[in-house]
Amino acid sequence: MLTRIADGVSVHTSECLETNSIVVDDGAAALVIDPGLTNAELIDLAANVRALGLEVVAGFATHPDWDHALWHPSLGEAPRYGTARAAAVLDALRGDPDWRAHVTEGLPPEIAHDVPLDLFGMLIGLPAGASTVPWDGPLTRILEHQGHAQGHAALLIEERRVLVAGDMLSDVLVPMPDLDGDAPDPLQDYLDGLQLLEQAALDADFVVPGHGSPGDAGELRARIVADRAYVEGLRDGGMISDPRITEPKAGWEWVLYVHEGNVERAARARSDRRKGPDSAPSGANG
Ligand SMILES: [Zn+2]
Repeated sequence: MLTRIADGVSVHTSECLETNSIVVDDGAAALVIDPGLTNAELIDLAANVRALGLEVVAGFATHPDWDHALWHPSLGEAPRYGTARAAAVLDALRGDPDWRAHVTEGLPPEIAHDVPLDLFGMLIGLPAGASTVPWDGPLTRILEHQGHAQGHAALLIEERRVLVAGDMLSDVLVPMPDLDGDAPDPLQDYLDGLQLLEQAALDADFVVPGHGSPGDAGELRARIVADRAYVEGLRDGGMISDPRITEPKAGWEWVLYVHEGNVERAARARSDRRKGPDSAPSGANG
């Protein structure tokens, strides 16, 4: 089911992980963002789009994770875009002869058999620094940052005042900084990403997270504050009290394990930094 949240912006929510697919339209043409997750849901999404008299003319994946870079033949053959970095990550992944097995291993077991992977990750990488999605519909600004994943992009649909946040600003999932990647300071990357979203929030009345409920302008601001407090807590090793962990929505109790993993890896990063060259014992530098 497609739910209209603003003029020309609709959301389809997957049963699994409350994953949101977003359809932006100008009354005739549609941009489909992060379509997912199962065959049945993607066929339903495509049917809903057609029922509104829309033709899918472009796709966009906010980042190179399995649940954001899917596609289905029923959506047609429109070009699918992502940032240059996101497309490069997915090209490298698909270049591995065993990529299907690797991706399948990471899928939720209850839907693993039903996630269409044939067209997964086949993105056209936009030139580095591209500022808008190349389509003729409502101007859709690309806000690239390295917070959650390499080449992660939020989208601001300016004239509709909707911020599509990718895997940030969720009411059910805590932030998941890219703590296993190669970036020297992934928590600062995340905070920089939040700053970018805070700037964009001045021009938005709605937020659609990758997972969870869309929110209004007040909710958008509150989620930026909550995500920043969470990430600063990880960075500083401080006490983190976040309702997404302490009072999770029914079915989201496992977010506690995501949180514990975040805390563990952030602590390891802090201790690695202490052991780094900048913190040699006093006297060692003369
Ligand atoms: Zn996701």
